[in-house]
Amino acid sequence: MSIQNHILTLRQDEAALLGYPEDELISIIRDVGFACDGCGRCCTSSYNGHVFLLDRDLPYLRTHHPEALIPAPDFDYGDSDGTLYVSGYALGVHEDGRCLFLDSESRCEIYENRFSICRIYPYMLHREPDADGVVEWRQISGLGEHGEYHGEITEEEGTMIARQVLSYELDFIRQQIGFWEAIGRFFDEQNLRHVRKIYDQSLRRFQKGEPVRVMVYAGGSFEEHIVRIGEYRGFSSP
Ligand code: SF4
Repeated sequence: MSIQNHILTLRQDEAALLGYPEDELISIIRDVGFACDGCGRCCTSSYNGHVFLLDRDLPYLRTHHPEALIPAPDFDYGDSDGTLYVSGYALGVHEDGRCLFLDSESRCEIYENRFSICRIYPYMLHREPDADGVVEWRQISGLGEHGEYHGEITEEEGTMIARQVLSYELDFIRQQIGFWEAIGRFFDEQNLRHVRKIYDQSLRRFQKGEPVRVMVYAGGSFEEHIVRIGEYRGFSSP
């Protein structure tokens, strides 16, 4: 997909999200009535992939746990020099896939400072294709697979959760739009091209254990990293 098409699709997602009725989301949240039972599974890569961080999550980590930041695992793009590009950072995990902040009793060690996605989980609001390829809203992650359901959630609590969810999803989409717009400008200024073959070669070098250069889009600019597969041992991909 071209850069322009990425931006166009994201703008459509943004418009759809802005049009999503808050009342409907509140009603779904109250109806599901999710309650955490402390199993800790949602904080593992085997269950939920990686924890993607919004820009607003970064100051705490940069100050207190900079070692926990890694370029998000799914590298989005590449240039003709073999450098890879990705929108944002993720949280590192242990080799067994547990979040670095999940303690031995499956509790979050930094609960008061946990990140945006951790605060809204398992409520989510984004559009995904179903098994037939029809794009529909998805509101709950892992429904029926963990935790407890049909607990009491007041109108006030439901409204607060719904607003946090909408705010998260909007920031996420806008961060992605910012990334693709920055890629377009950067490639123009630096006279770079995306060559699929070179992008695939870089991914293969990375998979084989060679260091690769990754530019991470965060806070409105690109930050350079040299990454190795060892940093991603706890993830099943990339
Ligand atoms: S930061 Fe805390 S809540 Fe978030 S994934 Fe890690 S252990 Fe879970």
